[in-house]
Amino acid sequence: MKRPSDNDDTPVWSVAQSAERYGIDEWGAGYFSADKHGHMVVIDPENPDSPRVSLLTVMEGLRERGLEPPVLLRIENILDHRIKVINEAFTRAMKDGGYLNRYRGVFPIKVNQQRHVIEEIARAGSAYNHGFEAGSKAELLIAMASLESHESPIICNGFKDAEFIQLGLYARKLGIDCFFVVENPTEARIIIEQSRALDIKPLIGVRVKLSTRVDGHWQEDSGDRSIFGLSTARLLEVVDLLKEADMLDCLKLLHAHIGSQIPNIMNVRAGVAEACRYYVDLVREGAPMGHMDMGGGLAVDYDGSQSNWTHSMNYKLDEYCADIVDTILEVLNPLDIAHPELITESGRATVAYSSVLLFNILDVTDSNPLPDSSMDAEAPASDSAAADSTESTVSDLNEDPQILRLREVRDSVCPDNLQECFNDANFYREEMRDRFRRGTSTLRAMAMADNTYLQIIERIREELPNVARVPAVLQDLSESTSDIYYGNFSIFQSLPDTWAIEQVFPVLPIHRLNEEPTRTAFIADITCDSDGKIDHFADPSGQSRTLPLHEVRKGEDYFLGVFLVGAYQETLGDLHNLFGDTNVASIRITADGAVQYERELHGDTIADVLSYVEYQPATLLESFRHVAERAVRSGHLTVAERRTIVKSFTESLGGYTYYENI
Ligand SMILES: *Cc1c(COP(=O)(O)O)cnc(C)c1O
Repeated sequence: MKRPSDNDDTPVWSVAQSAERYGIDEWGAGYFSADKHGHMVVIDPENPDSPRVSLLTVMEGLRERGLEPPVLLRIENILDHRIKVINEAFTRAMKDGGYLNRYRGVFPIKVNQQRHVIEEIARAGSAYNHGFEAGSKAELLIAMASLESHESPIICNGFKDAEFIQLGLYARKLGIDCFFVVENPTEARIIIEQSRALDIKPLIGVRVKLSTRVDGHWQEDSGDRSIFGLSTARLLEVVDLLKEADMLDCLKLLHAHIGSQIPNIMNVRAGVAEACRYYVDLVREGAPMGHMDMGGGLAVDYDGSQSNWTHSMNYKLDEYCADIVDTILEVLNPLDIAHPELITESGRATVAYSSVLLFNILDVTDSNPLPDSSMDAEAPASDSAAADSTESTVSDLNEDPQILRLREVRDSVCPDNLQECFNDANFYREEMRDRFRRGTSTLRAMAMADNTYLQIIERIREELPNVARVPAVLQDLSESTSDIYYGNFSIFQSLPDTWAIEQVFPVLPIHRLNEEPTRTAFIADITCDSDGKIDHFADPSGQSRTLPLHEVRKGEDYFLGVFLVGAYQETLGDLHNLFGDTNVASIRITADGAVQYERELHGDTIADVLSYVEYQPATLLESFRHVAERAVRSGHLTVAERRTIVKSFTESLGGYTYYENI
């Protein structure tokens, strides 16, 4: 595999090495891969052998259409495929287990409410009677207006007022299986009242609070601490209310949602088993039941480790389906209770794969030490203001005690003394910093010391491969001297979970994967917030604070992609620093591997985001004209200059909120 390149004997880096380094085949789930040109490519899951689509080529195509980075790219084929595989996996598990009823999935709208996504789910889902889950009136309106199949259900969760209930009852009247999942007795009363008033029979479900606790990020919110669901006492109160109102025949669904991103399959089994006990007793109470909704929670393997770590999952889709189906069979069969229609509400697992955030790198702060010669060259001549101090001419720098010590350390680095050199380097650099703070050293002396420090780290790093056992403190050297790559995007707008819950997403360059990534870096966004960074990455060894990246070449774009971002990221995002919605594009890959640009959505303009915080762009422009006129009056501007500046202000209002190359 390795062969010498033309002019030196460094081994050629292979795409396979990149694939391994970035875990592409593990998290890519058959949708993403690297091709022989070193590009990240999308694989059409229905035609895996057709030509693959390079994300770099797509990015170029978008630019030609006026969509600059950052761009959120949606791949419709992947979304369609997710709906298909989830439905088919459940159907298969039911057939294998002898389950005598059907599966219907619903997509929880809160996971991605964007119209293009919802419309595509409605379209692709109609073949499977895939429905929607709505958690608010707004989401219910979306569901009622979007479903394409009459047999697709709507599941209503969350707090429901009389208006919400009326809307749902009208959906019933239209022939839609619209279930109200009751979360508290008050809601049950409203349902009873409203359905009597409108004379429409409701479909009612009850949401139970399971004691099963789940692993992962939402651990604390599961079990007794869950804020959702009826306690046992309140569940019985609801049952009794329905009995009194002579409406127990409307109670047809049991709902349980044990958490999102459940990494451990054991939790799923335990949750289903517990939910079944509730189901059995509600049947015994005399409710017709007939539907069991196990909520969401099907995980996404964001880091590809197939483990029960928070951002992963220790099971496959088929196993998830089989475990749910088999557990229900195990509980209900011995009791001779008919198998309910099975519903699940997978959100994350449906949409995560289909979106990729693409952005360019704007700048890099690297940690490369400079050669001493270039440091000297920039030092001031000895006649500088340093005359009053004693320590900062060029000759002084070369005699400066800390700098001399640091240079000695640098020149003595060898495999036997790495740890010692590291300690000494830290010690002398700290001494220099101390002197600077006390005013007995200069900025130039500090810079020289810092640079020599980096030279030492570099020397130590060069020697690491030659030592049998790397001391613990040296294992993380890359972390203390990593580069910062500045990306043209906002964490807060596009990847809020990176910030809010330290979510790990696969991040990597979408090209140059046939070159060795020689830098270690973390990624900063363009907000002015110290939290605006990505510094948690999945890594073959587990988790890392840094990511290997390539040296950015002058005059050439370097594009990164953040993958699996289709779930939760779009609407949870905010306007930190007034960076608005990014450009969005949907593509579809045709059977012969061509790209169709299906939909494009231009991101917020500056005027848009200003209006979100109550500025009227027109009024703002008017005030600015006054400011500029004042400057003319006071002689700071000519009238012609005023005109240019006002024009530029006006153009900015209509521009993209992100960094643009103009
Ligand atoms: C959020 C939510 C879901 C979606 O969960 P995922 O883990 O994304 O599948 C499903 N059902 C309910 C009730 C929810 O609140």
